[in-house]
Amino acid sequence: MSRRTVIAGNWKMHKTLGEARELVSGLRQRLEALGSPADRIDVLIFPPATLLFPMAKAIAGSRILMGAQNAHDAAQGAFTGETSMRHVADTGCAHVLVGHSERRHVFGESAEFLARKVVSGLAAGLTVVYCVGETLAEREAGRTEAVVGRHLDEGLSADLDFSRIILAYEPVWAIGTGRTATPQQAQDVHQFIRSHLSKRFGGPVSDGMRVLYGGSVKPDNAAGLLEQRDIDGLLVGGACLSAEDFAAIIGSAVNRARQILS
Ligand code: PEP
Repeated sequence: MSRRTVIAGNWKMHKTLGEARELVSGLRQRLEALGSPADRIDVLIFPPATLLFPMAKAIAGSRILMGAQNAHDAAQGAFTGETSMRHVADTGCAHVLVGHSERRHVFGESAEFLARKVVSGLAAGLTVVYCVGETLAEREAGRTEAVVGRHLDEGLSADLDFSRIILAYEPVWAIGTGRTATPQQAQDVHQFIRSHLSKRFGGPVSDGMRVLYGGSVKPDNAAGLLEQRDIDGLLVGGACLSAEDFAAIIGSAVNRARQILS
């Protein structure tokens, strides 16, 4: 089964408006220079909430897609400071991140809250990028599969529209640490995710699901990760803040697509 590759960039709480415009303009120029089959790669950016409207303008007419880093599950209401999934959809976003490790561990978002966000993101017409991943202590205790399996079970249920869900495996110990999972470590967990999905939801869901790897992806390690059978793309943090580095990572995906086609 061929799954479209996704290269996604999570800007986190970085970039002012001027800096963001510069980044997107540099990215657009570099994307145009990438040869065929660049159109087989979905390029996705997750700017901070205040930048979603202006970035919708900045990416207009390009192949770049946009998502929000977070949103509340309620459609509207007395939730001061929050942004709803409908607000996100209003900006022109097609995607939303749910369950990023910083939401789970820094902001203490519960499994129930995240599961509701998945449902409300889909209800707002968005594609949900649902993140899972173990901490270093959990990996060292041999609990990686138990934790990742639990995250999947908590966030996903059989009644969801799986065609609008993308998974991201992001080991917490690799996020922002410079310590990437080896391609084999990542592949092992991606393979586990696919077999878990197959048992829970059946072969077609498992085969069709795009599963991204995230955690200290850089231009020099992207190719090795993308060669793995069950890795369908990358979720990039730090390296997506530079147009040059992010375009180089996208370039690795284009090269991989070229190899597969030849
Ligand atoms: C992320 O924020 O999802 C991430 C993977 O960050 P980094 O690439 O910086 O580890």
